Amino acid sequence: MMKKYIFVMLFCISFINGFSQEYRPVDTADYAQRKAFVDRYKIISDNYSKTLKAKYPGTTGKELAKNYSEFQESFRKEIKNRDYVFNSGFTEMLRICFEKLKTKNQNIPDDIRILVAKDNAPNAFCIQDGVFVVNMGLFNWIDNEEQLISILGHELGHKLLSHSENWQKKLIETEQNSKTQVSEIYSSKINKSEKAFKLYKNQIYESGIFRRKNESAADSIGYVMYRNTGLKKSEYINSLRNLQKFDTISPTVVKVETYHRLFSSAEHPFKEKWLKMEDFSAYDYSNFKERLNKDSLSTHPEVVERISLLKKNFPEISQDEVSVKSENKDFLALKKTARFEILPNFYHSEDYGLGIYTAMQFLQDGEEESYYKNWLGKNFAKIYEARKNYNLNRYLDRVDPKNQSESYRQFLNFMWNLSLDDIKNIADLYAQKSP
Ligand SMILES: [Zn+2]
Repeated sequence: MMKKYIFVMLFCISFINGFSQEYRPVDTADYAQRKAFVDRYKIISDNYSKTLKAKYPGTTGKELAKNYSEFQESFRKEIKNRDYVFNSGFTEMLRICFEKLKTKNQNIPDDIRILVAKDNAPNAFCIQDGVFVVNMGLFNWIDNEEQLISILGHELGHKLLSHSENWQKKLIETEQNSKTQVSEIYSSKINKSEKAFKLYKNQIYESGIFRRKNESAADSIGYVMYRNTGLKKSEYINSLRNLQKFDTISPTVVKVETYHRLFSSAEHPFKEKWLKMEDFSAYDYSNFKERLNKDSLSTHPEVVERISLLKKNFPEISQDEVSVKSENKDFLALKKTARFEILPNFYHSEDYGLGIYTAMQFLQDGEEESYYKNWLGKNFAKIYEARKNYNLNRYLDRVDPKNQSESYRQFLNFMWNLSLDDIKNIADLYAQKSP
C-alpha cells in the first residue's frame, strides 16, 4: 500500500498562491449517504454474484463468485473505515462529467455508482459490478474536466469489454494450468529451477501482453465515447500525457537545508549524525526479478505506445495541442481541495512517514506554513507512539536502495537515525506551533 504513494510525490504542482489559511477539510459527516450506498450495494453485488455463476457454470463461476465476495468484504471494510467520501464536491463534479458521456453514448449502463476514495494515487477504476471508484489524488494531475471525462471513458471501456472479469477468469485458469505444470517440473529430474523460472517468466510476459492489449482496447472504446461528446479531442491524449508525467518527473528533492531549518530549535539543536546514510555499497542487487527483461515489465513505455496507437487508429487526434487549464471555478476549487487533502489522506491511511516527507516538500516551497507544520506535528506524534511501541515498520518504509530516490532514502535514513527522545522533541516542537 505504501509504495505506490512514493510516486505521488514525484510531482510538485505549481499552483501555490492564493490558498486560504483556514482550510476546511472535506465533510466526513456523511452517514446518511454512506448508509444509502451500502444498502444499495448489497443488492448490486448479490445480482452480480448471480450473474457470474450463471455466466460461467462449474468451477470457474464458483471461483469467480468467491473472489468477488472476498473483494466485497474488503470493500465494505474500507467503506466502514471511511476510506471514501460521500458528501463532497468531487462526487458532484464526477456525476456531471459522467452524464456528459452518458447522454451521448447509449452503450453506457444506467446503474453506475461513483465513489470518491481518500487516496492520493492518481487512479480510477470501474468494478465490473458497476461501481466506479475515482481517487481524490487524480485531481492533482488533471488540468480540466475534459481530461476527467477522458479517464472516465477509458475506465468505462474496461468495464464494457469486461476486462477485469476476463482477467480474473484467466488467473483462475492459469492457476489450474500452472499447478499441472509445476507438478510436472517437480517430477522431472533435471534443471528444476531453470524450468520453474521459465514458467514464472512466461506467466509475467503473458500477463503483460494481456494488460497492454486491454489498455489499448479501453483507450480506443473510451476515445470513441469521448469523441461523441464533441469535446476537444486532443485532451484525451493529454490525459495520458499527464499520466506519463507521473511516471517520469523526478521527485522534488528535499534539501539538507530543509532538514536543518525544520528540525533545529534553541533547546534541541540539529545533529549532523541524523543525516548519516546507510552504506549499501556491498548490497547484493542480483535477485530473481533482475533476470527478467525490464522492458516487458515497466509501465512507462506503455503510455508512449498507447498514445502512438491512438494517433494511428484515430488520425484526427494526431495534432498535438497543449493541455488547457480549466477556468471552471468548481473544478479549480476541487483541485485545491485535493491538494489540501494530501496530508489528511496519508494520515487516514496511517502513512505517517510519507506524511512527514510530503509536508517537508510543501514547507520547503513555503506553501501554507501553519497548515503543513500542524500536519508535521501530528505525524511526528504518531511516529513517536509507533517508535515507543516498537512498530515503526508499519508506518515508515525501510530503506530500499533499488526502488527509492536518493532524496527519499535520505529522508528514511534521517527518520531511522532519530532516537526516541529526538522524535519526542520534534513532535513537541510542532505540537506547540499547532493552531
Ligand atoms: Zn486502463
